[in-house]
Amino acid sequence: MSLTVALVGRPNVGKSTLFNRLVGQKIALVDDRPGVTRDRREAPAKLGDLDFILIDTAGLEDAADETLQGRMRAQTERAIADADISVFMVDARVGITPDDEHFARLIRQGGKPVVLVANKAEGRAAESGLLEAYSLGFGEAVAVSAEHGVGLPDLYEAVVATL
Ligand code: GDP
Ligand code: MG
Repeated sequence: MSLTVALVGRPNVGKSTLFNRLVGQKIALVDDRPGVTRDRREAPAKLGDLDFILIDTAGLEDAADETLQGRMRAQTERAIADADISVFMVDARVGITPDDEHFARLIRQGGKPVVLVANKAEGRAAESGLLEAYSLGFGEAVAVSAEHGVGLPDLYEAVVATL
């Protein structure tokens, strides 16, 4: 049976960038505008010697009259239910926002193993955000830079530790 991993978190933290990197193809659409990925994407991905199915979440595929929060919630809940592990991503440069705390509650309710990842962790601007992430209650965040490919061995270790 194959392993399934869900990439969850509020818009614009870099989920699709990490998805693209681990899938190795430009399947997910990446854009500067928050929440621009239009569909849930899933594809075979690889991290070190670990092969798995990776689910990217975005929240814009449903009815236009729903709120972004509602669409994100529905899609996140579905992805967590379908996955063995959730990778919860926050933005180390921005720090923890009320939206991150909202997602933290959703993800906790999902009851699946969680790996907390603080993305955009390249450079000094990320240090305080990394510390703040601890307050979410998922332990210490794994610092990565999806864009620059930094921290992937640490992410591998954290994912393997949940198996
Ligand atoms: P999503 O909404 O969570 O899927 O986020 P995206 O993957 O679409 O990325 C949102 C923005 O963050 C884009 O402008 C990305 O280029 C940028 N981004 C993603 N990863 C990194 C990173 O590691 N460092 C920095 N500085 N920017 C990043
Ligand atoms: Mg996206």
